Amino acid sequence: MIKIVALPVLLLSFAVSVVSCDHDKNAGQVRAQSSASITPVQTPKLTFPPDISPPPTIDGVRTMQYVKEIVAFGPRPVGSANHKKVEDYILAHLKNDTVEKDAFTADTPEGKLPVHNIIAKFSGTKDGIVVIASHYDTNYPLRNTSFVGANDGGSSSALLLEFANQLRGKPREGYSVWLVWDDAEEAIKPDGSGGLRQEMPFENDSLYGITHLAEKWEADGTLKKIKAFLLADMVGDADLNIERDTNSTPWLEDVVYEAATRLGYQSHFFARTLPVSDDHIPFVKRGVPSADFIDFNYGYNDVFWHTTQDTVDKLSPKSLEIVGGTMLETIRILDKMDPLPRK
Ligand SMILES: [Zn+2]
Repeated sequence: MIKIVALPVLLLSFAVSVVSCDHDKNAGQVRAQSSASITPVQTPKLTFPPDISPPPTIDGVRTMQYVKEIVAFGPRPVGSANHKKVEDYILAHLKNDTVEKDAFTADTPEGKLPVHNIIAKFSGTKDGIVVIASHYDTNYPLRNTSFVGANDGGSSSALLLEFANQLRGKPREGYSVWLVWDDAEEAIKPDGSGGLRQEMPFENDSLYGITHLAEKWEADGTLKKIKAFLLADMVGDADLNIERDTNSTPWLEDVVYEAATRLGYQSHFFARTLPVSDDHIPFVKRGVPSADFIDFNYGYNDVFWHTTQDTVDKLSPKSLEIVGGTMLETIRILDKMDPLPRK
């Protein structure tokens, strides 16, 4: 996780307008209409198809074991020997899967650094792709500390490995699912956390891997096939509260809440509403429906975020099950929603 704009709810409309995109403008229009009319504006309600098979399950204990194995390599900042070990570890898990690598050299404030995105593709019967992404690098400015990012980068990367277990070897009656371990998500210069001074605007010095992938997929036409972009980040906190992110696509957030409700997990979702700047932004900007699964209250007032306290003892297998199950249920609902809203 790179950064957040944390503002009181009353200021949200201003905060969201800073990030310019279509649905923000629409929200403004709806507000204007509401104030001019006594009758509340009727927004179209989504119709959710029923589930006709058992709900998806995630092995939380196995996923937690993956988290432990990832952090056991130590800090894994981009360009480091540990980073290469984690990359090989992920690839070893995917050895019998269809894997694509997206490798390039990024120009950063610290010079040129190698960036390696990993994509595992699981084919479905339906035309279109749902992407699930997680960054796997750790915070670069903390590279010389013991920071291992158990929650920040570790929990979600482990969850994607478990998704691969769930998807592997089974026919998918639905969209293709692509798992993306994106790289160099974290800012290279200190990003304002831990009392450090912000030296670079975050979008100019972070999201290197996922931005490259979004640009590449836009150029080769892949982007048009992506029905939804689901992001997991900081999803292992034992005290789990996933945010309603106002930078995510509103209708897709509604699907997420429906999925959580179907599994009985809704009390872990959307108690707070706030705008989050994360790996989904390059896809949001390109009009791909996107949802960020993030709990940005990691310890009281987020005290463990980007500190050496981000360790596995703060996490729980149940939280990984809750987020993982809800992401898979979200895809199951999307598979059956025909047609999907376009934006
Ligand atoms: Zn982070």
